[in-house]
Amino acid sequence: MFSTILVANRGEIAIRIMRACREMGIKSVAVFSEADAKAQHVRYADQTFLLGPAPAAESYLVFDKVIEAAQHAGAEAIHPGYGFLSENPAFARKVKRAGLVFIGPKPDTIKLLGDKTAARKRMIEAGVPVVPGTEEPAADLEEVRALARDMGYPVLLKAAAGGGGKGMRVVREAGELDRSYRLARYEAASAFSDDRIYLEKYIERPRHIEVQVIADTKGRTVHLGERECSIQRRHQKVVEECPSAIVDEEMRERLGQAAVKAAKSANYLNAGTVEFLVDRERNFYFLEVNTRLQVEHPVTEMVTGIDLVREQIRVAAGLPLSFTQQDISWRGSAIECRIYAEDSANNFMPSVGCIRSYREPGGPGVRVDSGLAAGDEVTVYYDPLIAKLLCWGGDRDQAIARMKRALEEYLITGVKTGIPLLRQVMSHESYVDADISTHFIEDNMRVLLEKPAVSQYELETLSVLACAFDYQAQKCRQKALCAPRNSSWKAEKRRKAIDRF
Ligand code: ADP
Ligand code: ADP
Ligand code: MG
Repeated sequence: MFSTILVANRGEIAIRIMRACREMGIKSVAVFSEADAKAQHVRYADQTFLLGPAPAAESYLVFDKVIEAAQHAGAEAIHPGYGFLSENPAFARKVKRAGLVFIGPKPDTIKLLGDKTAARKRMIEAGVPVVPGTEEPAADLEEVRALARDMGYPVLLKAAAGGGGKGMRVVREAGELDRSYRLARYEAASAFSDDRIYLEKYIERPRHIEVQVIADTKGRTVHLGERECSIQRRHQKVVEECPSAIVDEEMRERLGQAAVKAAKSANYLNAGTVEFLVDRERNFYFLEVNTRLQVEHPVTEMVTGIDLVREQIRVAAGLPLSFTQQDISWRGSAIECRIYAEDSANNFMPSVGCIRSYREPGGPGVRVDSGLAAGDEVTVYYDPLIAKLLCWGGDRDQAIARMKRALEEYLITGVKTGIPLLRQVMSHESYVDADISTHFIEDNMRVLLEKPAVSQYELETLSVLACAFDYQAQKCRQKALCAPRNSSWKAEKRRKAIDRF
C-alpha cells in the first residue's frame, strides 16, 4: 500500500480524499494556490505545497508543478479528485512516466471516453443503447443543417469534448440553427479548446440516471447501482439520490449490466460513472462516461456502505476490490443537496465574498462534506461549491424529511446560497412524489424562488446573531463617544459612526 498520496485538488473533494487516506494510515499531501493559503484542505493535510497564483491555469492545472510536488513530498500516487486534471489523459500519462501512480483509469481509457463521439461509437459496437445522434462531429453548418433535418427537431448540439454542462445548445427549429451552432462552437472552443460539435436527438423531459462502476486489476468489474440526478440547473446537477424511485430490481440489473459492458468495452480500471438518459417509457440510453470520482458519489456510499475512495486507492495499489458483485446490497435511501454559493434568482450566478457565519447541521442520518468554514472566501477563481449535504433514511420519505430538517438547521451568512431553493425542492409535491425530470427546476422556477417559511429554530439563531451584532455595535458606539475630540477628520468619522448606530 502507498505510504503517501498527493491530492491534486481543493475544497470538499480534497478533504474527502484525505479523510480516506487518514483512515488507511496513508499520509496526505495538499497542493494549493496563493488564494488558498489558508484553505481547509491545506489545514487538513500532513504536508502542503504552494503551486502558484490563484488562476487554476497557473496553479492546480500545471502538470509539472503538481508532479514535482509529489516527488518532493515522497508520494507514490496522485489522486486527482473531480474537475481540474481528473479527466486529462496527458496528465495521467505524465504521472505514470514520472514513476508515480495516477489514481484513476488508464490514460487511453480517459482519452477514448473523453471524446463523446468516440465513446458513443464504442458503445454502439459493444451493444449498449445510446441516445440517437451522429457518430462523427459535423464538418460545417451545411452538414449540421442536413443532419438536423433528417433527425427531426428538436436537436441538441453538443461539444465532442464537453463536460460540466458546457457547450450544449437545444435547437427547436431550423431558424435557430445557425446562431446556436455558432454559439455552441464558440463556447466549446473557449471551455475545452476544441470546437468540434455533434448532434443528439433532444429527449423531452428525460430523467438522468447513472450507474457507479469500479474495476480492479484482477479482472473484476462491478456496478454499485444507480443514482438519479434529474434535479439540474443549466444542465448541472444540484440534487442527487440513490436509489432512483423509478428503478426496480429488474431495471437495476439491466442498467448495471449495460454499465459493466460499457466499462469493459473501454478496458476500464478504477471508479467511473456511466450516465444514461431515461425516457417516459423507462427506456434508457447511454449518455457518457465520467472517468473519475463523481461529485455525488457519497449517496452510493451511504446506501451500499462501501467507501469508494478507499476502494479507488486499493485498486490503484494493485489490490483486489474488497467485495464482489454478490456482496453488494442497497439499504434505505440517500439524497445529496449541493450547497453552492449562488444567487438562485439571478440565473444561479456565483455569489462571491466572505462567509461570515457558518453552522452545519447534524443528527441522525446526516453527512456534510464541506470545504469552507466561517471566515473563508468564495472567490471567482474556483467552483463556488461550499459543501454537499447528504441525508440517509430507511426509505425516501425519511431521507426527504431529514433533508428538510437539515436544510433548516444549516446556517450560512455572508454569501447567498441555494439553501432556500433546495428547501422548496424538498417540499414540492412533484419532488416528493418522485415525478421529476431534468426540467424540474426550470418548470417550477416561480414556486421554487418563493422564500421558505422561517422556522422557529432559524428565528432563534438569527436573534442570537442579532444580539452579537448589537453587542459589537454598542462597543463601537462607546469607542466613538470616548474618542479624543481634536482632529476634524476624526470628528467626522466619529459622527458617522454614531449616526450608523
Ligand atoms: P458530476 O458529473 O461529478 O456531478 P459535474 O458535471 O457537475 O460533476 O462536474 C464536476 C466538476 O468538474 C465541476 O466543477 C465541473 O465544473 C467540472 N468539470 C466537469 N467536466 C469538465 C470539463 N470537461 N472541463 C472542465 N471542467 C469540468
Ligand atoms: P456533460 O458532459 O456536460 O455532463 P452530458 O452529456 O452528461 O454532458 O449531459 C448533461 C445533461 O444535459 C444531462 O444530464 C441532461 O440533463 C442534458 N442532456 C444531455 N444530452 C441530452 C439529450 N440528448 N436530450 C436531452 N437532454 C440532454
Ligand atoms: Mg455528464
